[in-house]
Amino acid sequence: MQVTKNYHTHTARCKHATGNVADYIEAGIEHGLVEIGISDHSPLPDNRWSNVRMPMKDLGDYIEEIDSAIEQYPQVNILKAAECEYAVEYHAFYEDVLLGEHAFDYLVCGVHYIPYHGAWMGLGALEYRHLSAFAKYTIESMASGLFAFMAHPDVFGYAGLAWDENCIACSRDILTAAEELSVVLEINGYGLRKDKVSAPEGERRPYPLLPFWELAREYEIQVICNSDAHQPGDIVANIGEALIIAEENNLVLADTDLLFKSL
Ligand SMILES: [Zn+2]
Ligand SMILES: [Zn+2]
Repeated sequence: MQVTKNYHTHTARCKHATGNVADYIEAGIEHGLVEIGISDHSPLPDNRWSNVRMPMKDLGDYIEEIDSAIEQYPQVNILKAAECEYAVEYHAFYEDVLLGEHAFDYLVCGVHYIPYHGAWMGLGALEYRHLSAFAKYTIESMASGLFAFMAHPDVFGYAGLAWDENCIACSRDILTAAEELSVVLEINGYGLRKDKVSAPEGERRPYPLLPFWELAREYEIQVICNSDAHQPGDIVANIGEALIIAEENNLVLADTDLLFKSL
């Protein structure tokens, strides 16, 4: 299948990617993309986790950079977006400032930290006992109604846990909620470019977590396949493989024209 769209793209502003907006658009044009969503890690009003995102003071520059690319490259449809961590205290910022005042085309939710016993923990420390908190927080994020899709809902695969009843319960909770809330789930190509993790079953990519997507076929959900590019050369990377995972599990691809209504 010819890949023509990617809706998950970062820039150097997040401090762990390279290239500016124009670099990604030019790479996308070279690869024949007709639509590109720029979705760098959103700044946060309190500058939390500022080591992996732009500071709040850069938001205006980020928006301007996307707006000028929209003018400069009329041959490709460019969408303005951001990847967000959900927390109740940020809800109004996402809704009123990003989607409202600045008319972002969509927001992506990416869970990289979860609240656990009153503190935030990174996913690197995830163990079996945290899985229900991960599922609960993922579901709460989906239920906020702010997000066009959930990035890597199977990111807990990063922890290299055995696929056991805890992982199955966590996956079923997320899949049930995605079905009930009609939130699209992303099969994320970035995990396919990351170093393998060792799990009891052997070495595997941190995500996409194949047993998760095998379970997904039991649910009426829709999926989207993106590269999650962190360098311009990766603008379409691994989308083809993500599409194969979708196809092999009979998963329905979301109609992106409907999903991103600005078109
Ligand atoms: Zn990132
Ligand atoms: Zn991302």
